[in-house]
Amino acid sequence: MRLRRPEYTGENRCLPCTVVNLVLVGIAALAVARRSRPVGLAVGAVGAGLVWTRGYVVPSTPRFAPRLVSLLPVDPFRHGDETGSLGDLDGVDGEAVLAGLSREGIVGFAEDRVTLDPTFEERWGREMGALRRLSDRALADELGEGLDGVSEVEVLSVAGHTRFALGEDGTPGTFLSRPVAIAELGALRTLHRSAPTLDPGVRTAATRPLRGFLERCPACESPLEEREVRGCCGGRDPRDLPAAEVVCPDCDRRLFTLDE
Ligand SMILES: [Zn+2]
Repeated sequence: MRLRRPEYTGENRCLPCTVVNLVLVGIAALAVARRSRPVGLAVGAVGAGLVWTRGYVVPSTPRFAPRLVSLLPVDPFRHGDETGSLGDLDGVDGEAVLAGLSREGIVGFAEDRVTLDPTFEERWGREMGALRRLSDRALADELGEGLDGVSEVEVLSVAGHTRFALGEDGTPGTFLSRPVAIAELGALRTLHRSAPTLDPGVRTAATRPLRGFLERCPACESPLEEREVRGCCGGRDPRDLPAAEVVCPDCDRRLFTLDE
């Protein structure tokens, strides 16, 4: 077991998850302290230490928390905005993705900007148009069919917003909002056609950065807007939040963030 979990600590620490875990550690420590004060103190110290180094101590917090909040009318964790990506399914690094896309002519470099091939953009737009017409359930089925390592796709509703839970053997691991699901499945299908020789892992990992080229919402076609990230209840430590996010004002969903 790796003691430190960088994916859940440092800048990736989810503040509400940490708070929930510290509260649970406190409850456990108090329960033990009623029998033995020193042992209760030790439980509290070890538990808090584990939350600090590992991000959380209650197993699978990042997995159960979204399911837990799906039962609430509001989303206090704001995991709803922190949508996952099909790219989470493959651990390919960003440089390999950019190199692969550039080799296939899908992205180019002009001065200090990265550009998207217009033919790819048009095909991607058509794929998204077809997916947009599907119901949530039909879209979930399409997601389940096209992805390796995903055996089931559940449709959840979190604070009135659709969330697709992609899982294997009953364990949801990746959550997608409807706009992101349309964008990424559309991108994956387009890559399959436009770049059939590209490594499948790179194709899947490319779906997240490709979202950065979107100008309209994949789900409702509204023009996307840039807005400041709210400082409060952003889900993670406010000091580490990106400076701006690009959202669909009608769906109220984030499509991507602009890092400082
Ligand atoms: Zn929208």
